[in-house]
Amino acid sequence: MPIALSKKSRVDLRSDTVTQPTPGMREAMMQAPLGDDVFGTDPSVNALQEKIASMLGFEAALFVPTGTQSNLCAILSHCGRGDEYIVGQQAHCYRWEGGGAAVFGSVHPQPIEHASDGALPLEQIEAAVKPDDAHFARTTLLALENTLGGKLLPFAYVQAATELAKSKGLQRHLDGARLFNAAVAQAQLQAQGGMPGTPSDVAEARRIAQCFDSVSVCFSKGLGAPVGSALCGSKDFIARAHRVRKMAGGGMRQSGMLAAAASYALDHHIARLADDHALAQRLAAGLAGIDGLKVEAPQTNIVFVDLVGEARLRSKELLAYLDAHGILATGLYRLRFVTHLDVDAAGVDLAIAAVRSFFR
Ligand SMILES: *Cc1c(COP(=O)(O)O)cnc(C)c1O
Repeated sequence: MPIALSKKSRVDLRSDTVTQPTPGMREAMMQAPLGDDVFGTDPSVNALQEKIASMLGFEAALFVPTGTQSNLCAILSHCGRGDEYIVGQQAHCYRWEGGGAAVFGSVHPQPIEHASDGALPLEQIEAAVKPDDAHFARTTLLALENTLGGKLLPFAYVQAATELAKSKGLQRHLDGARLFNAAVAQAQLQAQGGMPGTPSDVAEARRIAQCFDSVSVCFSKGLGAPVGSALCGSKDFIARAHRVRKMAGGGMRQSGMLAAAASYALDHHIARLADDHALAQRLAAGLAGIDGLKVEAPQTNIVFVDLVGEARLRSKELLAYLDAHGILATGLYRLRFVTHLDVDAAGVDLAIAAVRSFFR
């Protein structure tokens, strides 16, 4: 039976970066007062930087074009040539950024394996910190990521790992590309755990962020802005990061239009991340029980599905079939579906129906 077409012609589950600015966001962009941010005089950029810094409890922030550049600015501001950062094997700032910290900063990565919950085990962090000895690179930074592949790092772990790093004299950086997904999921866990009062998403984001010396946040993922990330930290740290941003070619001019979109996202798109998480649950529930699929229970907005047994051989065929039915996803034997602002329950149901009909 052919599958009915939804209002949206494509159900694009490849990433939460594919979102289009909403009409309200476009209006905010059009109305934004502009200057020249390289002169430091774009009022919309300055307002965004102050807003995100104060939301997360930092002295200062820097608006940058991408999360990759934000992490690069952070690592090169914390570390010098020949310094080393401890990082997860799957971390974006180790695995998915072209080795930029090594290429541009001569900063040496010390990757370690993640535990199944995404954490870097404390004893392995401790063992990776080198003594002060000429044989070794100087270990100067711990970089964590939250959420990591859609997993919320347990808050007690975040506290313990960052305390450990501090006790070893390390700086602490958080790649919080999806910090607000983490915050929304954490607030929900707290509410379920019967914490008194109403846990607030922003308060949870701040609680996570305050365990670190610097935090990078993406506006162009689930928050739905077209472009941009912010790096937060102390005034001195941000002054160093500003210099790296210039060297990396990230100084922008009338970037207030982009900052206005990010600012709009902070005002309107945080709480609604809970909808994306609910849709991810809906998708996972709909795919569970299909022969050949092993569905990982999602904690936020990313659903991983392993193809097992004979289904593994049909992976490419499945993706092509989904594509032909207007459903986009990524992966090979491990498929990834990401929910976001531009996906609704009808779209998720179409995706479920298409996968079911493929395996029928
Ligand atoms: C997307 C992402 C980034 C940055 O990506 P850009 O495409 O450079 O904006 C960094 N870290 C994580 C964890 C991400 O998911």
